[in-house]
This record gives sequence, structure tokens and C-alpha cells, in this order.
Amino acid sequence: MAAADDPDRVATGPLDSGMTRAELGEAAAGIAGLVHSAGAEELVFAGLNGPAFPVLLFGAALAGVPLVPVNYRLSAEALTGLLGRLGKPLVVADEDFVDVFAGSRAEVVTTPGFLAKARTAEPAVGLEASEDDPAVLLFTSGTTAEPKAAVLRHRHLVNYILQTVEFGAAAPDDAVLVSVPPYHVAGVGSVLSNLYAGRRMVHLRAFTPDGWLSLIREEHISSAMVVPTMLARVVEHLDGRPAEVPSLRSLAYGGARMPPTVLEAALRAFPDTGFTNAYGLTETSSTIALLGPEDHRAALVSEDPAVRARLYAAGRMVPGVEAQIRFFDGTVLPPGGHGELWVRGPQVSGEYQGSESPLDADGWFRTRDLAHFDDEGYLFIEGRADDTIIRGGENIAPAEVEDALLRHSAVREAAVIGLPDEEWGERIAAFVVVHQGADADGETLRAWVRSRLRGSKTPDVIVFRDELPYTPTGKLLRRELVRMAAAERNEA
Ligand code: AMP
Repeated sequence: MAAADDPDRVATGPLDSGMTRAELGEAAAGIAGLVHSAGAEELVFAGLNGPAFPVLLFGAALAGVPLVPVNYRLSAEALTGLLGRLGKPLVVADEDFVDVFAGSRAEVVTTPGFLAKARTAEPAVGLEASEDDPAVLLFTSGTTAEPKAAVLRHRHLVNYILQTVEFGAAAPDDAVLVSVPPYHVAGVGSVLSNLYAGRRMVHLRAFTPDGWLSLIREEHISSAMVVPTMLARVVEHLDGRPAEVPSLRSLAYGGARMPPTVLEAALRAFPDTGFTNAYGLTETSSTIALLGPEDHRAALVSEDPAVRARLYAAGRMVPGVEAQIRFFDGTVLPPGGHGELWVRGPQVSGEYQGSESPLDADGWFRTRDLAHFDDEGYLFIEGRADDTIIRGGENIAPAEVEDALLRHSAVREAAVIGLPDEEWGERIAAFVVVHQGADADGETLRAWVRSRLRGSKTPDVIVFRDELPYTPTGKLLRRELVRMAAAERNEA
């Protein structure tokens, strides 16, 4: 549709040398021809963000096989393990990552080599996937377990786009800076939604705060999407200075919970930019709730505590997605109840490769996020149900304790987990990174939390670290923290 509508408009890259929509379509048809003649059942992509990603995404779709973007930072062993779960994968890898696949039996080609070959390949015609075919397989980040392949079918992605994006709605000079990696559902979502909206895509291959700000200025970027750890690094880099990026009209964040202190600092640094919080899961084809710029503005100026609180909300459900809050046993809670979020709609997949559908008989999917809605339908995400700490019979959300710690001027990052305890069942351990040059001891921070929250929510131990373990998409690796805490105890 995009190519037919305006073939010469630049789809990806710089205005003067980027790839037009027509070129994107032709390149994808060439890729489809190569995939088909190789007899591949999946097209695997191990590469950085860049124009190759949209070409491969549409090339795979035209060939009727799923694209499987993988995390190129994984070990050779882990990547070979992932390939072992596929039928007949053809691997396209950036030159830096080709060696990692040396031990696998799959056919491996380099990204530039494959794109060059596609230019002269016999284009595939008439192979297109049906709406029920898998479009993308995404290995979930596996913060609590081994990675599993989430299956997103064409109908899930198409419904997501049709419900949330207006075709051609972008202004002619709109350009989006994509900095989330291709193996995250937000990377897939950004290709589809920006091409459909008609927004030129500019890719930042590897994120640095300075590189991100410079590219926004150079390319007159009007919108961008970041995960919370990226925004935290930008804010820290600015160190209280304004960002000075007049072209940036909108900044979307999501993929993990945004610490309130980072959001507040970002709102000060980007006073003329409209902020959007996008909440979603891989299994729901990305965004299912949105808090838009108007909501952010209203919350900032309101005297009403309920409206002010919405600054930290995930917003309202997008069209086509229904939500329920349920008790742990699956009973639906009355309005205002706190419990687990269940969702239903045509973009919700929930399916993992090789497993039965986890949807219940009526099509509802359990997100495992703890949440509640306010009176006007604003969704608040409280954290993963699995991360809840149960101390002396009381349920404690790590996020609440983390947010209290982050309000202390010395604290840069905080992560809170439960550790086994004979007396209390679990005790609260906080891992803290302090700002450069800042000084804080454990007792001071414990007293600080105690003065803000109940005594029972005060961390029992505070461990100081130089850094905390995150996935590249900004998710805290709590499993890794538990392991670190156990190692520390053994050393003591
Ligand atoms: P993934 O499927 O790896 O992208 O992880 C999805 C999970 O990330 C959700 O279940 C939430 O726990 C968390 N998440 C994603 N976006 C947001 C957001 N905007 N606010 C809070 N948590 C989020």
C-alpha cells in the first residue's frame, strides 16, 4: 500500500540517499525469491538496527515464512540452541556476528551479501502468506526463565496496525528515530506502524545518549521511541541541561516500567516534546495501552491528585483490546480492584511455538502483570506478579520500594528483590547504584524508605553496586540479582 501510494517517498534512511518505498518493495521481492529457492522454513536475522530489517521483514512475509530476529549478543551456544528449535532456518547475520554461528548446521549468509544478491534474484511472486501464517517468531527476553518463541501471526500484526495507525497520517517531513533492536517486538511494531503512517525511518545502529541526540538534530527527527534505560542515560548525560532538539515533537517510551524520577527529569529536559507511554507485551503484538501527550500535560498541571497520578499510568487500552482485572484464582474483580491484568482482542496472540494456546476458553490472555484501573479507565501497572515479595504475609511490590529509593538524591538506580528468610518467609534486599561522587550508607537509605513507606516495606539489606544487570531492552534481570545475592552470602 505504501509503495503504491507514493513510490518515490523515502521509507528508510537519509532524505537524499535513503531507500524509497518502491525500492523497499523490490528488495523484499528479491529476498523472497532467495528464501524460496533455498527452501528455508524460517528467515533468521542476527543484525543491528538498519534498513536491512524492514527489507527482511517484508521479504520473509512475501516468501510465506516467518522472520526470526534474534539477539546477536547471545552466546554461540545459546544461538545454536535457538536455531535447534526451528525447522529449516536460513540465517542472515551482520558481518560481526557471522562467526557466532560457525557451530550451527544452518546456512548462514552476511546481511550485505544477501541484500546484494537479492538485487539480481528472480523475485518471488504469488507466494504470499495467509493471515493465519506466522509472520514473526520472537524469543522472549527470558528474565525469569529460558527463552521461548512467541508466535505472532499476520492477523495479529495486521489487526494491531489497523486498530492503532491511520494510513498515511504522517506529515511529509515526519521522521522517526528507531533505536530499539529488531529482536524486540517494539522494533517490529515500529517498522510496520511507521511505514503504514508514512513516516521516514532513521535507524540508530547502537545506542549512546550523545549519538541519539546528535542524530535527532542532524536528521530533523520528529518522533522517537526509547526503552526506560535509554531515557535514563539521556537524562543523565544532559545533567539538568535542556535537550535542545526543537524538531522532536513526540517521544514514546515503554518496554519496561519507567522510574518516575527519570520521567520527571525527561519532562524538564524536553519541555516542548509530547510524551507517550506505550505498554504492551511481545505476546500482545506490542502496544495494548497508551498514555498520550495530552494525558501527560493534564497530569502535570492538575491540582486533582487522581489526575496527577496518571503521569505514571500506562494510559487507556487501545481500540479492539478488552481488559479485566482478576484475582489469582481467575475470578474477575469489581471495578477499581487490584489484581492480574487479563486481555483479549485480535492482536493478542499469547501463543508459544510448540505449546497449546494459553488463552482461556473465552479467548482471554493472562499478562502476569499486577495492575488496576482508576475511575476513568486509566491503567496502572504495578509490576510482574512473579516479582511480588511476600514478607511476613504482606505482599510488597518491588516497584514501590524502588521508587522510594530513587527519590533519594544519592540514588541513581535501584532494584528490589525478595530473598528467602526463615522468620519472615522473604526479606527485602535492595541493590543500589549511587550517582558519581554521591555518598550514602545503608542505614541512611533504610531510614529514608522507612520515613516514606511503612516499616515492613523497609529493605532488610542494602547492597551497593557499580551497575545493575539489564537486558538490552531495559528489563532488570531479577534472576541475576538473586544469583548475585546468593553468591555474596556464600562468600560472607
Ligand atoms: P516483553 O514481552 O519482553 O516486551 O515484556 C513485557 C512486559 O514488560 C510487560 O508484561 C510489563 O511487565 C513490562 N512493560 C512493557 N511496557 C511497559 C510499560 N510501558 N510500563 C510498565 N511495564 C511495561
